[in-house]
Amino acid sequence: MKTLIKGASVLLTDGSVKETDIAVDGEKIAKVGDAKDFVADTVVDGKGKFAVPGFVNAHTHASMTLLRSYADDMNLMDWLQNKIWPIEAKMKKDDIYWGAMLAAVEMIKTGTTTFADMYGDMEKVAEVAIDSGLRAVLSQGIIGVAPNGEEAAFEENKKLFADYHGAGDGRITVMFGPHAPYTCPPDFLRRVAEAAKERKAEVHIHLAETKGEVENCLKDYGKTPIALMEETGILDCGVLGAHCVHLTDDDIALMKKYEMRVAHNPGSNMKLASGIAPVPKLLKAGVCTALGTDGTSSNNNLDMLEEIRLAALLHKVDTLDPLAVPAMEAVRMGTEYGAKAVGLKNLGTIETGKLADIVLFDMGGAAWTPKFDLVSLLVYAASSADVDTVMVAGKLLMEKKRLLTLDEERVLFEANRCAERISAK
Ligand SMILES: [Zn+2]
Repeated sequence: MKTLIKGASVLLTDGSVKETDIAVDGEKIAKVGDAKDFVADTVVDGKGKFAVPGFVNAHTHASMTLLRSYADDMNLMDWLQNKIWPIEAKMKKDDIYWGAMLAAVEMIKTGTTTFADMYGDMEKVAEVAIDSGLRAVLSQGIIGVAPNGEEAAFEENKKLFADYHGAGDGRITVMFGPHAPYTCPPDFLRRVAEAAKERKAEVHIHLAETKGEVENCLKDYGKTPIALMEETGILDCGVLGAHCVHLTDDDIALMKKYEMRVAHNPGSNMKLASGIAPVPKLLKAGVCTALGTDGTSSNNNLDMLEEIRLAALLHKVDTLDPLAVPAMEAVRMGTEYGAKAVGLKNLGTIETGKLADIVLFDMGGAAWTPKFDLVSLLVYAASSADVDTVMVAGKLLMEKKRLLTLDEERVLFEANRCAERISAK
């Protein structure tokens, strides 16, 4: 399958924009530049469109989209113990599937092409990735809440790796997902690290999200969460650490040493009042820092353009420095750094040989006028509702705002049905 995106304004790797063509052959970009002679099966008119790399949501819990607006503005433990955990206990495989399908609709429509997900029954989320055409980095959330919960989930994660790593024509990769240091004790983390190393798999884990977590970790183990990851061998695997809000300088040095990557979730951190991650410091230290939405119970959407804007704004006001995270750096966090953070080296920029995950924004509206600086318009003025066309691995998932792989009406119907069932008294 060959597709030609003709005459779009293309965001190039150096941050400049050029009006040109993108030739796509199979799952990869064959050429960025004049491609008059390229014989394509499909031609997409790029005129008036801004072509950017697809967004990478580096941390989310897609199936939780069923719980959007179910419980908000509560203290974390009250929210978890009295609202979220009881309703999650009622979720069956069918709910996991339709919750993730609802997420898939929203992700495609807002320009996300890859999502890094952690939850239970992840084979259902793998099915969603296969059915929707999205790229996914999946890990089973391993939480030791129920007796033997850890062991069962650990086995499920191993099975998920065996069954789905490389599935969906290579669009799915599988990581190990020990939930957090406060839900997985050190000896257990050591075993997860061993299992991951044996398989050359990477690890996705929540780290240093709240002040209380860091204080308890210091009290229980005499170490910060990041230092505990070094001691347990987790840092020897490639690690995608979600949140990383409360860090010491020694933590940042360790993260750099082990090439740990961070999924920064500004929307979730603000809504849950977790704090402000030291993102400018991390970027300056050379720690790969990407962006995620976290689950929609703590965001409450999956809109990556919003996270890009929040990242650009939050760190300016935090540091009182308008240069703290410039617009292009925020876009890189949502694309190029995101790809690196989730372990996909051949993704995240529009250049020859890279995987063809491309989003076209329609620049026809008032918010895109006048056009002095397209990157600035994208970050500070545009809306994800301007996403017009979405391609993953060379395949169109949405064209002219019409979903091509999913039946939106059916997905919304099924999601409402599932939400009603699990919330019934
Ligand atoms: Zn999370």
